Amino acid sequence: MNHQPNPLDYRLSLIVPVYNEEVAIEPFLAAINDKLSSIRSHIDIVFINDGSKDNTKYVIDKMIEQDSSISSLVNFARNFGKEAAMTAGLDYVQGDAAVIMDVDLQDPPEVILEFVDLWLTGDYDTIYGVRVDRSQDTYTKRLTAGGFYRFFNFLSAETTLPENAGDFRLINRCVIETVKQLPERNRFMKGLLAWSSLRATGVNFQRPERFIGDTKFNYWKLWNFAMDGITSFTAWPLRVWGFVGFGISLLSFIFLMYIVISALCFGVHTPGYASTISVVLFLGGIQLISLGVIGGYVSRIYTELKHRPIYLVEDVYGNYRNNQQESNNRHHTQTTLNKYSNRYE
Ligand code: UDP
Ligand code: MG
Repeated sequence: MNHQPNPLDYRLSLIVPVYNEEVAIEPFLAAINDKLSSIRSHIDIVFINDGSKDNTKYVIDKMIEQDSSISSLVNFARNFGKEAAMTAGLDYVQGDAAVIMDVDLQDPPEVILEFVDLWLTGDYDTIYGVRVDRSQDTYTKRLTAGGFYRFFNFLSAETTLPENAGDFRLINRCVIETVKQLPERNRFMKGLLAWSSLRATGVNFQRPERFIGDTKFNYWKLWNFAMDGITSFTAWPLRVWGFVGFGISLLSFIFLMYIVISALCFGVHTPGYASTISVVLFLGGIQLISLGVIGGYVSRIYTELKHRPIYLVEDVYGNYRNNQQESNNRHHTQTTLNKYSNRYE
């Protein structure tokens, strides 16, 4: 596949997942038009409405009439999460490259100009944004996020996640097509995107606070997200129990020999209640943890095996997934509840 984009004639699609963001849409579009005016003619926007319960869909519908840069609106049947929304974005984009960005302007549009400059050199498949300053995040968020990236990179040898990089990035057609071929249901997109891009580089940026609305992520969601990431990219948590078991058996054997020999040499002492109960509880704890880890993997295998679609589409405006002819047709279309059997109305 040709890596060299044409600087005069390229198309860049912005993939924007939105969930209950009715207040953020208009300021977002205004910022795009303002900050990206120099490349405006190259840009189109794909909104993925991730089952919003507010008026997000109607606000975007209204904006479609006014803003010709919105090429698609994909409405999910319900909330499937940001990872599914980004997956859908890749399925629907038509551009030579795509930028994944949040609607809350925490991913500053002007950084895209730097992304594009680097992409036009033809040297990179992926240009990701690196947050130089996480002071906007809480201390706990910074600590847990930093810990997660280090732990992930320590365990996963073949895929390395850049630290302090979110989903905000530009990816070229090669990466888009590669990720589309990855069939897994547990979509840890940062990992899938890193796995698919061979030539990646970062651009530093300051991440501002969310300008309007609230974050859609709480610590429970982030914990599950981190577990999805680790289980999708490494089997080490499963394999480590063999070593733990071996270590504990070895120590137990040494302790056993010590007890037998000391009983033979010095006679039997009254056994300690405290040491017995701590050994029993310790081993019980170890077994439950290892069972929990196996359970985590098995539940994900179960999800994979069912082969359910990653998302369900209620209706789509604009570009179609997998359509043969370049489609800029501006008409609303109806789909069945299966992304693979979309059809024009
Ligand atoms: N989002 C989504 N589905 C969800 C949660 C979030 O599409 O289930 C979108 C949200 O509308 C926003 C982006 O993902 O455009 C990032 O969300 P948010 O700003 O809440 O995350 P944070 O910046 O706090 O990590
Ligand atoms: Mg945000």
